[in-house]
Amino acid sequence: MTAPPVPLATLIDDLVAANRILAGLAVVDGFGHVSVRHPHQPDRYLLSRSRAPEQIERDDIMTFDLASNAQGGDTRNGYLERFIHGEIYARRPDVTAVVHAHSAPVVPFAASSVPLRPIFHMSGFLAAGAPIFEMRERFGMTDLLVRSREQGAALADTLGTGHVVLMRGHGFCAVGGSIEQAVYRAYYTQQNAELQQRAIALGGDVAYLSPEEGSMADTTNTGVIGRPWALWKARFAP
Ligand code: MN
Repeated sequence: MTAPPVPLATLIDDLVAANRILAGLAVVDGFGHVSVRHPHQPDRYLLSRSRAPEQIERDDIMTFDLASNAQGGDTRNGYLERFIHGEIYARRPDVTAVVHAHSAPVVPFAASSVPLRPIFHMSGFLAAGAPIFEMRERFGMTDLLVRSREQGAALADTLGTGHVVLMRGHGFCAVGGSIEQAVYRAYYTQQNAELQQRAIALGGDVAYLSPEEGSMADTTNTGVIGRPWALWKARFAP
């Protein structure tokens, strides 16, 4: 049995909370964004106007089509990189929410030949891979921002069927089947990057989760995702 769609007003509240939670967890700062697919119109998504996540309120939320055009005659400035969201939603019907961030601990893994791999059960989802999007391959010299549908599409192609894509010289994106899951994955991608770097610094061999362990841990954690979400909401978005 499929759960009934979440009411739009509830989802907007959750999206505002997600922005404040990601800021509280230092996944985003003055930059970075999180979106959610429209609950009743799958070819639309909700994303704030261009504003720092910690300051976002209900009225800041705009609606975009999958070409990332603002709907309803809304002329406010959207994020330059909103194409990340539209192009991922267009290619991934299973994705309901997208986080994009420049989290400092993650950036080294987007620049290094050392792959980001799951070091503990909380980030088992990384067993599905964390490919690196290399902007230069198709677009040459740029300011690294995903400024067009074509660039967003190339990023979404690199993400493929995975949960996380790293962006060389820039940051990363995490996706999920709910706002809670996308926020969870963004936070634990950041945690994993910190812990993996510490494990590498110890100097010995590092044992990562196997694909089977990662997949089983991801299933378990998805089932209890409401617990950290409730805590984060109470702490950062009361
Ligand atoms: Mn960015």
